Amino acid sequence: MADRAENHRQLLNSLEEAAVLLDRDGIVYHSNSMFRSLIGNQKPESRSLKELLPAIPEQWLHTSLESDEVSAFVFHSPVVGCSLLASVLPGDQYRILMIWKKEEELPSMVQLQNLIPFGILLLDTNGNILKCNPAGRKLLDLSSSGFTNLNRVWSQSRDRANRRRPQEHAPWSRALEQGKSIHVGPVSLAQSVLDIHCIPIQSESGQVLVVLQDMHREHRNQNRLRNALEINRSINSLLMDLLRVPGPEETIHRALRGALELIEADDCLMITEEDSGSRIAFVEGTLKDLVGQVNSVDPWEFDPALRKEGALLIRNMDALPQLVPGIKPGEYRGCLAASVLYEKNRRGLVLILRKASRFKSRERRILQLLVPALSAAIFKFRYEARLNLMATTDPLTGLFNRRRFFAVLESAVRDKTPPAILQMDLDLFKQINDSLGHQAGDRVLEVLAAELKSMETDGVTAARTGGEEFMILMRNEFASRYREISEELRKSVEQLEIEWDPEPIQFTLSIGATRYIPGEKLADFYARADKLLYQAKESGRNQSCFESVSIPGR
Ligand code: GH3
Ligand code: MG
Ligand code: MG
Repeated sequence: MADRAENHRQLLNSLEEAAVLLDRDGIVYHSNSMFRSLIGNQKPESRSLKELLPAIPEQWLHTSLESDEVSAFVFHSPVVGCSLLASVLPGDQYRILMIWKKEEELPSMVQLQNLIPFGILLLDTNGNILKCNPAGRKLLDLSSSGFTNLNRVWSQSRDRANRRRPQEHAPWSRALEQGKSIHVGPVSLAQSVLDIHCIPIQSESGQVLVVLQDMHREHRNQNRLRNALEINRSINSLLMDLLRVPGPEETIHRALRGALELIEADDCLMITEEDSGSRIAFVEGTLKDLVGQVNSVDPWEFDPALRKEGALLIRNMDALPQLVPGIKPGEYRGCLAASVLYEKNRRGLVLILRKASRFKSRERRILQLLVPALSAAIFKFRYEARLNLMATTDPLTGLFNRRRFFAVLESAVRDKTPPAILQMDLDLFKQINDSLGHQAGDRVLEVLAAELKSMETDGVTAARTGGEEFMILMRNEFASRYREISEELRKSVEQLEIEWDPEPIQFTLSIGATRYIPGEKLADFYARADKLLYQAKESGRNQSCFESVSIPGR
């Protein structure tokens, strides 16, 4: 009996799945290293399987240990944190329980039988197949009705030198004869290339358990592993790229391009939610024209399953146009979606679209692997956008600060139409501070800023360029009306009244206004506006000063 246990041990150690050798009471006699790492590197020998994996259904375990059938079952193990597929291979003294992790949805019982990757057969002394599982039948190309004799399969096949194989050389015959496990492989048998383990059991009746492992399958597994490593490397290098890319928008686009390259798709759309609840959409691929058109439709209505799941294969694309008006769902055959959690409770949605074909579950898994990189990209986008905003906005008024204003001005002087600027300074502002306090002064600044902001459009930009100094830039059609706009502003500021104790505050502005002379230096343009402002102050304040000579473009 000790010998047989030794044979079983060898079998366990040759398996890729986690496996344990159990006695009929479910006590572990031997385990392989995969099993030990599955249960957190404890030593399981002499302990009951039920104690090691409490979630394993007692009833099933009990029945399987008693029965001479190969049986399989899926259960969820909190110890391991995922669903496991377990199957029992019967032996006379010891039963082998094999476990492998499941990633996909739980299959039906029939599928389960098919999922056992090994062919498992029970033979009598004459090589007659007494029991055979579906995988065994498939590997040996046996019809499902009626078993045959494995010796016949053996003798009909040829070895590498194309010689017939003598029956007594069959590994199961040798195993029975020598009373010990025999392992041979790779052997080509009935169009399969097999690794064959033969374990003699029930010595009185001379039965032998034959386990067949498909070598092609092993090969496929190795390919899969190689692909997984390659994807891992690509994702790592994408992450490095994301760290290096300057600029928030560029980060997102690099991430989306990476997703399109890895998944080999045509279009990619990412929707993120801001703290204000507004949505930003980013598009990569052929959909570019539709950017900014993302609807106010709740993206989670697109597929409610995305609220908790990672990546999903989307079959029904009818809701796409609700999400992105103008998109034609008929153009696409494949749609993958994933939700991306990027900050506490903040979720984004990423959609990957392909025209030529549907996506496979392998591609769904790639997207799943990409989710952390996408989440990092959104995080970086938000962080950098916030930093940018802080570096370019005046905190008291929310207007552009001097730095950002001059950056805009620098590009405006290259416009075809020369721009105009208003250089403004509050009149006798120190008196307001001195008589009513700084708070009153601050309030004046806020109210003036609100007035300037209300003037802002595509061609008009306002900024706080100093303590109580403001500027306005006018471009295109607004530039030619700069004198009119300046006077309108001055007059409306004059009319403003701020509620204050003991009496309302009123204030005025002095303005120097001028238009850019093509070719002049930015500093000269600015100096002319400054000089005009000084003139406005000199001539009694609350006025706009313009150059008396006509400025080109008027
Ligand atoms: P003028 O008409 O010649 O421009 O007179 P003025 O009093 O407006 O000019 P002055 O340069 O003498 O004073 C500007 C004042 O603006 C001094 C400063 O305390 C005040 N100031 C600058 N920034 C702020 C601010 O953020 N809040 C408040 N309350 N006051 C500010
Ligand atoms: Mg001043
Ligand atoms: Mg002033």
